[in-house]
Amino acid sequence: MPICARSCSRGCEQPLYTAETKFNSGCGWPAFYDFIPGSVDRHEDNSFGMRRVEITCSNCGGHLGHVFEGEGFPTPTDQRHCVNSLSIKYKEQ
Ligand SMILES: [Zn+2]
Repeated sequence: MPICARSCSRGCEQPLYTAETKFNSGCGWPAFYDFIPGSVDRHEDNSFGMRRVEITCSNCGGHLGHVFEGEGFPTPTDQRHCVNSLSIKYKEQ
């Protein structure tokens, strides 16, 4: 299970995604189409005429990556959570 790797010294390790929601987006970074409810905060950024959604860990506030929607991936949500590989680590379920 992917868990938060931010603020490791403070022992965050909050579960963020389930392994079932991981998919291959081709972007080279871990991609998920849905998150564990309550584990991720969304921050919309409409600067520069672009709509971007930053995602952060709801527990420690650490930056995780960005969410992109409506790209046409064959997933249940049509969302792509592009997560910095430095922001998560994997733990046996
Ligand atoms: Zn965290």
